[in-house]
Amino acid sequence: MKCAACEQEMIERITELDLRIENKLYIVNNVKLEECQNCGEKVINPAISEEIFNMIKSHKYKLKTLSLPVVELQSS
Ligand SMILES: [Zn+2]
Repeated sequence: MKCAACEQEMIERITELDLRIENKLYIVNNVKLEECQNCGEKVINPAISEEIFNMIKSHKYKLKTLSLPVVELQSS
């Protein structure tokens, strides 16, 4: 599969994905997706993204909470 953004070949990876759903940020581990080695564009199979979305919606997930640093730039 080719990247929609830069037309380089994408490779299949199992990786971590960050998703923002209803203003909450979720980190989903072990997601199979295709990633562009050139620009980092990620494409997820619609069936997999639906599965993730349903899991989050129905709270059927094992929850681990991370604290992460948030950097705010001063707008000038
Ligand atoms: Zn690309």
